[in-house]
Amino acid sequence: MDADPLPPLGAYDPETLDQAFSALREEVETSARALAGPELFRLRWLGRKQGRLKLLSDAWLKEAPPEARRTVGQRFNELKAAIEQTLHALEQQGDASALLGESIDISLPGTAPRLGAEHPLMRTMQDMVQVFERMGYSVASGPEVETDFYNFEALNFPPGHPARDTQDTLVLANQERKPARERLLMRTHTSTVQIRTMESQPPPVRVVIPGKVHRNDESDATHSPVFHQIEGLCVGTDITFADLKGTLDHAMRAFFGPAVRTRFFPSFFPFTEPSADVQISCPFCGGRGCRKCKHSGWIELLGCGMVHPEVFRAVAGKQPAYDPARVSGFAFGMGVDRIAMMKYGITDIGLLYSGDARFLEQFR
Ligand SMILES: [Zn+2]
Repeated sequence: MDADPLPPLGAYDPETLDQAFSALREEVETSARALAGPELFRLRWLGRKQGRLKLLSDAWLKEAPPEARRTVGQRFNELKAAIEQTLHALEQQGDASALLGESIDISLPGTAPRLGAEHPLMRTMQDMVQVFERMGYSVASGPEVETDFYNFEALNFPPGHPARDTQDTLVLANQERKPARERLLMRTHTSTVQIRTMESQPPPVRVVIPGKVHRNDESDATHSPVFHQIEGLCVGTDITFADLKGTLDHAMRAFFGPAVRTRFFPSFFPFTEPSADVQISCPFCGGRGCRKCKHSGWIELLGCGMVHPEVFRAVAGKQPAYDPARVSGFAFGMGVDRIAMMKYGITDIGLLYSGDARFLEQFR
């Protein structure tokens, strides 16, 4: 390869040297990009006979007057270091490309990943779970495909019990040949995990169960066949309804703000006795009445109650410590979707499941 002729330097004042050497630095960079591979680059700059550095040394360094030799020599060394560094980088780059079997254009700009956002349902669920974690509850989960036993029978919904009709259930096909309690279905509530937790450990138990549940509901603005629940279970000796009230009252204040009040109404669930519905004072209007609370000042948010003795009996076969004569406990449950919709002002539950990025981007 023929080297370009190197003109004599002419003058040796700092300004001329600056200009000449910075032009050479640029040339080093340009040739590193232009030449195909480190070997050609090395020949061009460090070749023994025709390398630019050799020519430079002959034309500039050796011709320099004695008083300028030191400064030219210094710049000469700097340039040489830069050339060697560039060569080293080219060699490494070559090694990396060889490993990948292709060449990498490191000058291409990268593709910045788009930042995602936590889904409003997951965020609501996490926030609520944390409230209970701070009270010493642990978190449990279980399968979404369940047996009839865990979803209904163990929770005091015996076969044919009318309360089963309140939960329109999606059942798996081709289960008819199995005994009724072993037939598979999509769980209609996370209460199944209450049973599984008690079966796996003796009391005391303090556990919250966040999770996805399924019902055979038509989709509309407030219903979805898939939705989310958080349930809680506390079992020990001497657990009373007062503990239940105190726990939920504290949890609602921790989640919605210290001004929120709670009130309890009698209700019915097969797995608790007595049972209650819980309303909280509207956190948006402070109880004065607004659109979110339908101008009543109160919002119904939870179901709860003292664990029914029949539920303990269903578990006691595997864990005899759950003798209803010796332990007591409470359970509660709430719909995460409704709380998320209320908190973020979402009017259509379908948006939570649409996967529409324009909707989700708002929660970044
Ligand atoms: Zn209100």
